[in-house]
Amino acid sequence: MSELQDLYQEVILDHYRRPRNSGTLDHANRHAEGQNPLCGDEVKLWLDVEDGVVKDVSFTGVGCAISTASASMMSEAVKGKRIEEVEALFEKFHKMVAGRDVVDSEELGKLQALSGVREFPLRVKCATLAWHTMKAALAGADEVVTTETGDE
Ligand code: ZN
Repeated sequence: MSELQDLYQEVILDHYRRPRNSGTLDHANRHAEGQNPLCGDEVKLWLDVEDGVVKDVSFTGVGCAISTASASMMSEAVKGKRIEEVEALFEKFHKMVAGRDVVDSEELGKLQALSGVREFPLRVKCATLAWHTMKAALAGADEVVTTETGDE
């Protein structure tokens, strides 16, 4: 493994062991749940959205290291961002993990630690679960999203 991969591994394990923004959110005005039946990952997400800005975010989840770390990293990445910015970031993140595009690395920041999942198609769903759930929450879709029906 290269030094960079070692570093990425460390970032993922750190977020898996000590998830940021974990728990429920009392003042949430958006909520969605996501499931990835292929791996058994589940994510519940709470958002406090005001004036088009994600003011606060929290999540609970059970699942593999990738899904938990991804949810934790996402929560850090989207806090304080406008909804359009969150959606643009998801686009970039999705392209990165699906290996479809070379993306601006600076903008993705720490999220790049998950770029390795492109080598493992099943893991892509683990990495995108929290993001799909985020999208559902922002859309106000009060339903359980599942990666089974989506493309990734
Ligand atoms: Zn998983």
